[in-house]
Amino acid sequence: MATATLSLVTDCLFCNIAAKEIPAEIVLETERALAFRDINPQAPTHVLVISKAHHENAAALAEADDGLADDLLKACHAVAVQEGVAESGYRVVLNTGPGAGQTVFHVHAHVLGGRSLQWPPG
Ligand code: C5P
Repeated sequence: MATATLSLVTDCLFCNIAAKEIPAEIVLETERALAFRDINPQAPTHVLVISKAHHENAAALAEADDGLADDLLKACHAVAVQEGVAESGYRVVLNTGPGAGQTVFHVHAHVLGGRSLQWPPG
């Protein structure tokens, strides 16, 4: 029986998705960002936008100060346009730190849309 060979680049899940070593449903790719569908969607559109470079979270990314945050935000908007939710409204969420609900420690923006979104979030 054939076995799939994974050559994981690091123990970071999203670095491995960025390296295409772990499969994901990719919806958009730019030079420095990758967008793929969340495996546990919380809205009709729920896409994660990650930087290809590893930064632990939005705080680390902001401190790196290399324009990447700008690229990430532009990629989020491009995803919203592509998914058809830009007109009706969408939400971009960057859970930063365990206290805010971050569970994967590679910066990722959630792009949520396609339904009415409540405020404040839980
Ligand atoms: O902001 P937080 O770190 O909690 O978000 C992590 C997200 O990554 C979750 O929404 C989870 O469903 C998603 N995920 C994924 N694919 C994986 C593991 C987690 O889309 N293989």
